[in-house]
Parts: sequence; structure tokens; C-alpha cells
Amino acid sequence: MAEPAELLAFDRQHVWHPYASLPAEVQPLLVRSASGVRLTLDDGQELIDGMSSWWAAIHGYRHPVLDAAAHRQLDSMSHVMFGGLTHQPAIELARRLVAITAEPLRHVFFTDSGSVAVEVAAKMALQYWASAGRPAKHRLITWRGGYHGDTLHPMSVCDPDGCMQALWQPTLPAQVFTDVPPAGYDAEPDPDYLEHWDRALASHAESIAAIIVEPVVQGAGGMRFSSPGYLTALRELADRHGVLLIFDEIATGFGRTGALFAADHAGVAPDICCLGKAMTGGYLSMAATLCTSAVAEQISRGPVPVLAHGPTFMANPLAAAVSLASIDLLLAGDWPASVRRIEAGLRRELAPLADLPGVADVRVLGAIGVVQLTGPVDVAAATEAAVGQGVWLRPFRDLIYTMPPYLVADDEVAQIGSAIRAAVSAGGGRSRAQG
Ligand SMILES: *Cc1c(COP(=O)(O)O)cnc(C)c1O
Repeated sequence: MAEPAELLAFDRQHVWHPYASLPAEVQPLLVRSASGVRLTLDDGQELIDGMSSWWAAIHGYRHPVLDAAAHRQLDSMSHVMFGGLTHQPAIELARRLVAITAEPLRHVFFTDSGSVAVEVAAKMALQYWASAGRPAKHRLITWRGGYHGDTLHPMSVCDPDGCMQALWQPTLPAQVFTDVPPAGYDAEPDPDYLEHWDRALASHAESIAAIIVEPVVQGAGGMRFSSPGYLTALRELADRHGVLLIFDEIATGFGRTGALFAADHAGVAPDICCLGKAMTGGYLSMAATLCTSAVAEQISRGPVPVLAHGPTFMANPLAAAVSLASIDLLLAGDWPASVRRIEAGLRRELAPLADLPGVADVRVLGAIGVVQLTGPVDVAAATEAAVGQGVWLRPFRDLIYTMPPYLVADDEVAQIGSAIRAAVSAGGGRSRAQG
């Protein structure tokens, strides 16, 4: 292997990283390998991955079952086009997704990333209404504080106050926004807030195709938790105002919040549902958009009777085989107990941090733990402090948070807790006024 210093020098000058400039301001860490819940850096240091590679690696790294599924599939075929051809991995995965999601979701569109799954959901919703002779219904409505991906249509429904979205506002389709959902998984739904939604829908119903929200947990838009009761209310509002309901379960799916899908907390079925991130256990890039028969049939009856989308790597067999293995591995084990155990551990570890200077809020739901600061995190200082404690964290804005792989042990959860404490001390506590 090339010298680490040389690799990093090239990386810094030539390789773009997420939300970064060139040359990079902060040197990324060079990872040599990963196994179980641990990343191994090029100098041999091991870090517990507190991020599951952004929600995805729910079974950790190099899981023997997933490795075997990938090897097996590699020996028959890695990829074939999906136009005019089909294959067992995609068919079996679709069968499994239909079986484990809410009953009305019966049709699966495979894509290669979450953002594209949201693009497809938007296309489905708009084309549903166009096919029904209502092309004016072409906008989306969402609550503020969300995150739905980085391509342009998903960006148009991300939190409009997010700094990166502001730059793009002139380019993006204009959507309708309601206020951030009131905080708290356990809070009773606020009738005034629902009244506010009702009014927004009433005044824009002629132009709105669908509601789109992240159920229960807003992820990269601010790590907020809200009552499942809002999902029940949004279902009722969608039906009453004649708009479709889209749930973006890309972050929340596959057990992360303590239910297999976050919508299961409320027992509510959307018309369209986006899955991604943990769908392949973090091995390969694959996502899916599911819809009801009413949506699929309406589109297929319209003047353009096809869904006009077809990515080159649609339904990639390698990703599909690993995804199927990941889902079956999840369902074969007692994942609810694992997530409850992590939830209890995170509560125990993080609750005391609420008293630290500079901490505004501590919240835990399922295998997600969040410490919100009173001002922006010094990401470099916070990350370095966590790495010093043997844990990989990736804070953003005013948030230091963790969503570890489900096989993380109790002492490792404790170590993540210590690392978050160190990160808060090193990288937090400054007020917004001081910047
Ligand atoms: C990450 C995420 C996306 C985008 O997925 P990518 O695979 O990064 O394109 C969309 N919606 C939600 C809720 C997400 O967390």
C-alpha cells in the first residue's frame, strides 16, 4: 500500500468529501479496515463506530452472514441491467420489503441512493395527480426541520433554514412548509399545531400533490423526535384534503427507533414510503420507494402510462442479495431487545450530561442518542476528543449524537458515553453570540 502520508496528501488536494471544501480544512482519518463495531485506522488505532456509517451498518462490519451473501452473489453475477431483464435477488428482496412494510405498500421501485428514492417518491406523487387529470397538484408540503437528501428535489423539502439550502433557494421548486413539529416522542399531539397544518393544506390543496415527512425522527435536519400521534393526524389530514402521504424512512427504517419502521409506532400506512441507509446493512448503495396499488394503478392508467425513471444500476443483484441477507439476519434475531438495551444504556450514559455547561438538551429514542448544545460544535475539537476516547463520532451544527450498530456491547455503549462527554467538553459550550 502507498504511504499513508502520500495518500492523505492526494486526498486533501483532489478528493471531495461530504460537505467539504478543497483543499480540505480538516484532515479525514485514514481507515484501513473495519470489523464488528470497530474501525481500524492506518496506524492501528481502533475506534468504536458510534455512527454506524451514517445509520447504515446496523450489523457492524464484515458480518460473516453478509460477507457470505456478497461472495455467493459475486460468483453468479454482480450486475445486469434491469430493463427487460430480472433476477431472483431483486424479486426476493421486493417480496421481503412488501411483506415487512405496512400492508397497503405493495410495489417496489429500486434506486441506488436515498436521495434518488425521494426523487422517485416525488415523481410518483406528481405523476399520480397528472394521470388523474390534476397536473396543478405538483407541490409538496412538509414540516420545517427535515432532511430528505442532497439532489435538488429532495433539497426543496429540506429545512429551508439550513444554511446550505439557502444558497439553492432560487433554483429549487417552491414547496409549502409548516412549522417544526413540537418536540417529544411522549408529548400529546398539539391541537394548535394540527390546526396550523389543516389551514396550510386548506389554502394550498389545489396545488399540493403530497405531504412528505420523516416519521417520528427528523435526522440530519436536527435530530428531533416527535409524537407518533402526528402520523395518525397527517394520515387523516391527507385523506381529508385529497393529497398523498409520503414517509421518508431512509434513516428510521430497520429498527433504529425501536419499531421496525417508525410509522409502526402509530400503525399508520403512507401511500409512498422511501427506504435506504440500513437496507443493505451498510454494505452497498441501494434504496427503494414503495407505493400502494392505488398509486401504481393510477400512474399506469395515465396518458404517460409508465413511471419515467430507470437508473443504470437499478436493482443491482449484489446489493439486493446483501440487503436480503441483512433483513433476514435482522428479523432472525431479537433486534427489539438489542435496541431496547442500547436505549437503556444511552439513557444511563447521556442523562448526566444534561447538567454540563453548554448542554441545551439530551434525548434518546431507540438506538439514537443526542446531546444538543447551546451553540455550534467545534467539530474538529469534538471529534479529536472522541477519538482520544476510542470512539468515532461525527457531530454537526449544535449536535453531538450517536446511533451505534445493534451488536454494540454495554461496555462499548459506556465508552461511547464517555466519548460524548469528552466531545462536549472539548467542542461545545460556546454561545451563538460568541460564534
Ligand atoms: C440520508 C437520508 C436521505 C438521503 O439518502 P442518501 O443515500 O444519502 O442519498 C434521505 N432522507 C433521509 C431521511 C435521510 O436520512
